[in-house]
Amino acid sequence: MVSALITFKDIQIHFGSFHAIKNFNLEIKEGEFFTFLGPSGCGKTTILRTLAGFISPSGGNIFLKDKDITHVPIEKRGIGMVFQNYALFPTMTVYENIAFGMKVKKAARSAIDADVRDIARKVDLKEEQLFKKVSELSGGQQQRVAIARALVLKPSILALDEPLSNLDAKLRVQLRNELKELQKQFGITTIYVTHDQEEALTLSDRIAVFNSGNLEQVGTPYEIYNHSRTEFVCNFIGDINKIDPELIESSPLKAHVPPGKVAYIRNEKVNLTPIPGDDVVRLKAKIVDREYYGLYSKYVLEMGGGSRMKTIEKENGQIGFEVGTETDVYIRLADIMQYDRTERGN
Ligand code: ATP
Repeated sequence: MVSALITFKDIQIHFGSFHAIKNFNLEIKEGEFFTFLGPSGCGKTTILRTLAGFISPSGGNIFLKDKDITHVPIEKRGIGMVFQNYALFPTMTVYENIAFGMKVKKAARSAIDADVRDIARKVDLKEEQLFKKVSELSGGQQQRVAIARALVLKPSILALDEPLSNLDAKLRVQLRNELKELQKQFGITTIYVTHDQEEALTLSDRIAVFNSGNLEQVGTPYEIYNHSRTEFVCNFIGDINKIDPELIESSPLKAHVPPGKVAYIRNEKVNLTPIPGDDVVRLKAKIVDREYYGLYSKYVLEMGGGSRMKTIEKENGQIGFEVGTETDVYIRLADIMQYDRTERGN
């Protein structure tokens, strides 16, 4: 068993009369890439800032291994922080920005020079960029500087708050991959805050899904996606069909979904071609819309009784299913996710 590096124990956070975080408990292991995921305002930044020491909890404790750091000052926690808006010194050069923390710690000039150049290389900042002012760099380059500035201090934890959200889509994916590489290379425990499900799924060893100051689920990307524990999580991650109760009532699904439950199935688990297995249910459908993406197509299906489902099918180079076609649809019962009606959805 790997023991926890970070433990949040019964953390409570109030902002005036607003109870932002309610009894938060979580363990993060050494070396993990751990993501806090949730919609805007759910409390993920608040927890990150509490870990870093910018916010004092109104109750509970934070431990680094066995050490209680709840009241340890920011600079003594060994946490490197990267912010969404980079928070760099715009009029200083890249070099000065990266060197800043080491200078404050009164490191020797030669050590600063060696470490700044080494880390700049690792985050893919070119030599000639080192002496440019930060304000002359692109957003992606600025974010590299922010990451270098945090890593140069050799923190035991890297905390990133929506670091890619100010970048355009293509650069976001590129930097996302680089970040993953960097984390592997350094093996540094990384906590990443995002509201972007794709970022969370692709980057993380484990994800914590937040909703209104509560933890909905903690798990691997696979668990969160395929075994969403709550209706909120299943709706928040990926595309999903809520199965119409009338369709359940009038189909073989009835034997599987008890009254009082709401049932969901992920789009890609609604199949237009037969699938193997002895728990496969066949339903009738008509294709009412198709979007062709080249690699795959997205379909809207009418399932009888007016209810609809969405699906996605990989293209195989042959002509796919045309709009207007009546077809059978195959669903594996094990792929249906069910929740009590009383649970919070969205
Ligand atoms: P976002 O992605 O929008 O930053 P978030 O999940 O990170 O969302 P937090 O910033 O953690 O959300 O905020 C959680 C809740 O606490 C929000 O309702 C927010 O308005 C409130 N909040 C955060 N900081 C303060 C503060 N300093 N004073 C009062 N309320 C605050």
